[in-house]
Amino acid sequence: MIQDILIYIFVALFGLCIGSFLNVVIYRTEEEKSFAKGRSFCPSCKHSLNWKDLFPVFSFLFLGGKCRYCREKISIQYPLVELVTGLIFVLILNFKFEILNQFEIFQFLNIIFWFYVASVLIIIFVYDLKHYLIPDNVLFPAIIIAGIYRIFEICLPAIGQGFSVSLLNYFYAILIGAGFFFAIWFVSQGKWMGFGDVKLAILLGLILGFPNILVGLFLSFLFGAIIGVLLMVLQKKEAKSEVPFGPFLIFGTFVALFWGTDLISWYLNLIL
Ligand SMILES: [Zn+2]
Repeated sequence: MIQDILIYIFVALFGLCIGSFLNVVIYRTEEEKSFAKGRSFCPSCKHSLNWKDLFPVFSFLFLGGKCRYCREKISIQYPLVELVTGLIFVLILNFKFEILNQFEIFQFLNIIFWFYVASVLIIIFVYDLKHYLIPDNVLFPAIIIAGIYRIFEICLPAIGQGFSVSLLNYFYAILIGAGFFFAIWFVSQGKWMGFGDVKLAILLGLILGFPNILVGLFLSFLFGAIIGVLLMVLQKKEAKSEVPFGPFLIFGTFVALFWGTDLISWYLNLIL
């Protein structure tokens, strides 16, 4: 019991640190710099950051959301990405894994894969929200790695953790997801939906499979409609103005990933 709690605390702290790294990846992608080398620095005054400035969330709170050197405000994006990453890592541990009692190499690789997928989705969420663009250099490797994971899952059921083990499921999911957005993109000639959403849907199909992709898509449009109406009511956006759809797709995917099966059985109980 105490061991379980310790593992959850460890994963939460690990998530905060990875979240801090994701902020660096987002920043370096924005500046088109390599994120493999170079020290962290303040985006405003370019002062190198001390080890004291690099504690996720805590540094932000301690410094009152301002840079220690130039007193410039630090974007709320930094602590938010860290907190959300920590939360999602804990949810992954909770929903996808029995508590890791004994070290098992496939379980270890499995959890690393899901942490990686979550990280990619968080980066794309923030990037699309800020720049209306889905970075290919983050998305494409993820599609390849998720594809390899699904193929391995069929070959080595030990990785599979009771997931559905038919490649066709993922094939259908990609066909439905990417096909759907391709149709919208094609009909509207890129006005209603960007081509980035078509490519993103390939990854989401590999993550969710069929029929969970339907839950993910449904939730995305539901959240999109709710937020769209709210923005119009608050008159922040004109009805016509552009809102990136990627963040909604990713939010819907996370909800479907964790609660999709429950939602499907709840819905089936409702109509049958
Ligand atoms: Zn500064």
